[in-house]
Amino acid sequence: MKRPLFLFNTLSRSVEKVMQLRPEEVTVYTCGPTVYGEQHIGNYRTFIFEDVLVKVLRHLGHSVRRVMNITDVGHLVSDGDEGEDKMEVGAKREGVSAWDVARRYEQHFLTDLKALNIEVPNPLVRATETIDRQIALVQTLQDKGYAYVISDGVYFDSSTFPGYGDLARLNIAGQQAGARVNMAEGKRNPHDFALWKLSAEPGKRDMEWKSPWGVGFPGWHLECSAIAMHELGDQIDIHTGGVDHIPVHHTNEIAQSEAATGKPFVKYWAHAEFLLMDGGKMSKSLGNLYTLENLEERGFSPLDFRMLTYTASYRSKLNFTWEALQSAQTALGRLYKAVKELEENSKKDLDKLSEHGELLLKKAETAMADDLNMASVMSVVWEVIGSSLPAEEKLKVLYALDGVLSFDLQKNATFKESAREIPEYIRDLLEKRQEARAVHKWEDADAFRLEIEAAGYYVKDTSDGVKVEAQP
Ligand code: AMP
Ligand code: ZN
Repeated sequence: MKRPLFLFNTLSRSVEKVMQLRPEEVTVYTCGPTVYGEQHIGNYRTFIFEDVLVKVLRHLGHSVRRVMNITDVGHLVSDGDEGEDKMEVGAKREGVSAWDVARRYEQHFLTDLKALNIEVPNPLVRATETIDRQIALVQTLQDKGYAYVISDGVYFDSSTFPGYGDLARLNIAGQQAGARVNMAEGKRNPHDFALWKLSAEPGKRDMEWKSPWGVGFPGWHLECSAIAMHELGDQIDIHTGGVDHIPVHHTNEIAQSEAATGKPFVKYWAHAEFLLMDGGKMSKSLGNLYTLENLEERGFSPLDFRMLTYTASYRSKLNFTWEALQSAQTALGRLYKAVKELEENSKKDLDKLSEHGELLLKKAETAMADDLNMASVMSVVWEVIGSSLPAEEKLKVLYALDGVLSFDLQKNATFKESAREIPEYIRDLLEKRQEARAVHKWEDADAFRLEIEAAGYYVKDTSDGVKVEAQP
């Protein structure tokens, strides 16, 4: 049986019942990473929100077709039409080609998704593999009179699209007057944006393509419209990203898609709020960020971070602190321990839940259907654990909810040695300790052991050899 999802729609600024366009599936487009460097945990807050959205829809009985792009060209450092391409910046920084940078950080991204138990979107489409379709879209816009050519590229004329800025509730008239002073050479209106940028010196960039307007590369917003419409059709149900995308990227996606097709592009826009550092946005350009690797270096697993994101609504800002992450780790440890004990006490498989079990499961489902209220889902999890239900039944409810929570509850509960995964860098340290011991470098071996302990693990001699475990 299908149950409805209620989701906050940025278009209407209200929570709405999701009524999909086509009965067979809900279509979801999620803006992907710009692969010019490692993604930070702020980015992953948004990607976890999107993973939860898709898993909740499925849990509620819907089929979902979900697409994500990989931005591997065209995203300029300013988020607008000025400055260098982020991929070229990455290439200079690392002394390799922009193509190498793109593939390197795409791989990083995929590894991180796995560690966070985020399902890899299928399809995941690289912008650079859809250049023909992007050029065709620019051509359509030009043919319909929405685009014009100036010396550095082809631009979308925002004044020709009546609903421009509605999503962000931009005050176009007010801004127009104030912004005119700073307008780039030849641009007709301050909000006009590049559809196709011409290479300043063809042959100098790693990434450029021939087009009817000259050698160049697509504007950043173009790829999402081209990919979304190709993969999901002219009209899609849900489109997501972080809140920073509302005033520029998504505003421009709407303008170029709707101008091309004449139809409303997206029914529900859903945006995740920022993860903050010391009260400010965590971002690559500001450099105030942590990666998953940084968390692991301090003994936290990616799933501890996933737990942390459930403590607040995706629509609230969340301030990152090590104390908050510590509490999330403790909570997840408690959950694993509780599930492990339940596994030890459960005797049989269960086909059906009792009325009480059903009631608790429904309660959690109502919470997740209520604009993805994961904090409430977590309180039902603790309620289930503390309830009078038999162990088998508690497990059945918890494992059903783990389809959304994605903590690998079952796998962890049946782990022999430890309820926690040992991060790779701790296993590396153990290996180094063993190598040092083999050549009688006792001091080095001790130093490695101390490092392991400082990160919250300890070395244990077992009949199967030496192992590390998480400190209780
Ligand atoms: P990018 O790689 O910059 O294209 O960003 C990938 C996703 O992360 C986008 O949906 C952004 O809106 C989102 N994002 C960027 N910074 C943050 C942050 N501090 N907190 C939450 N989401 C963010
Ligand atoms: Zn996008």
